[in-house]
Amino acid sequence: MKFTFVTLFQNIVEGYFNDSILKRAIEKEILNISYADPRDFSSNKHNKVDDTAVGGGAGMVMNPQPLYDCLEYLKKQDEDIHIVFLTPVAKQFKQLDAKRLAKKSHIAFVSGRYEGIDERVVESYADEVFSIGDYILTGGELPSLVICDAVSRNVAGVLGNSESLEVESFETSLLEAPSFSKPANYREKQVPKEYLKGNHSKIRTLKIALSECKTNFFRPEQFIKHNCTRAVGFVSSKTKR
Ligand code: SAM
Repeated sequence: MKFTFVTLFQNIVEGYFNDSILKRAIEKEILNISYADPRDFSSNKHNKVDDTAVGGGAGMVMNPQPLYDCLEYLKKQDEDIHIVFLTPVAKQFKQLDAKRLAKKSHIAFVSGRYEGIDERVVESYADEVFSIGDYILTGGELPSLVICDAVSRNVAGVLGNSESLEVESFETSLLEAPSFSKPANYREKQVPKEYLKGNHSKIRTLKIALSECKTNFFRPEQFIKHNCTRAVGFVSSKTKR
């Protein structure tokens, strides 16, 4: 799968791929990362990419011309490219989006800077627009990396053990049960005793109970939804008989 980062600040993005799981996936040619700098497409003699806002307002806005030309170029190179813009005002990126986007062959992330991107560029080129949360960052590079990372984990072969995906939080209505490492007793804190006995059916049952506690504690609204879904399943299985 290919990711292209459309950014004025390639340096900020690059370092993330120099270590760990994503580095290995690039070495195995499962992932391919490339960059496009709108500045290289600017027709301004000083390669300017921003200007003051039409109609007034604080700060600079990214001009349409460099981005139009850059995105047109990328689309000509690959007609299957899926163009994602990052903006704090859009729908929030979720795990389901990560799974869906992992089926694309090529995603381009367009990072805004300054006060953002001229709206006409977004209207003309966005296949999708995402926010990563209700707060304002200085640029779209971190959100692009967040989404790229979450999508990559769902690309076949990127994770050594694909089973770890199945039990992760947000895969079902419950959060993942707490994890523990060795030693089983550390500074007088014990891992749950059942985890040590090797009875996998009992461990599974305990993990479900712990998942329920954790979901109720951290995400009470999600826990209510989980219980409602279970209740509907229970009622419909009764009525079938
Ligand atoms: N003036 C804009 C507003 O109030 O909506 C914010 C612009 S922000 C300083 C600059 C760029 O950072 C945006 O164009 C976007 O690409 C990125 N950005 C900032 N916060 C973000 C978030 N929560 N999710 C996704 N992108 C974000």
